[in-house]
Amino acid sequence: MQRKPWHSKEPQTEVYHDNDDCTEGNNIESRNMQSGTGTRLRKCAHCARLGRKK
Ligand SMILES: [Zn+2]
Repeated sequence: MQRKPWHSKEPQTEVYHDNDDCTEGNNIESRNMQSGTGTRLRKCAHCARLGRKK
């Protein structure tokens, strides 16, 4: 399901997530969770694929 975007606070993070079925997004530890799309992040490819699927 689509939800508000979130990303990891880890410095090497390059993507944000917006689908709660994304395993990568769900693997982010709660202490590293940050809501929003960040500043220079692109959308996670897995989330993009999940978003297209109906
Ligand atoms: Zn994702």
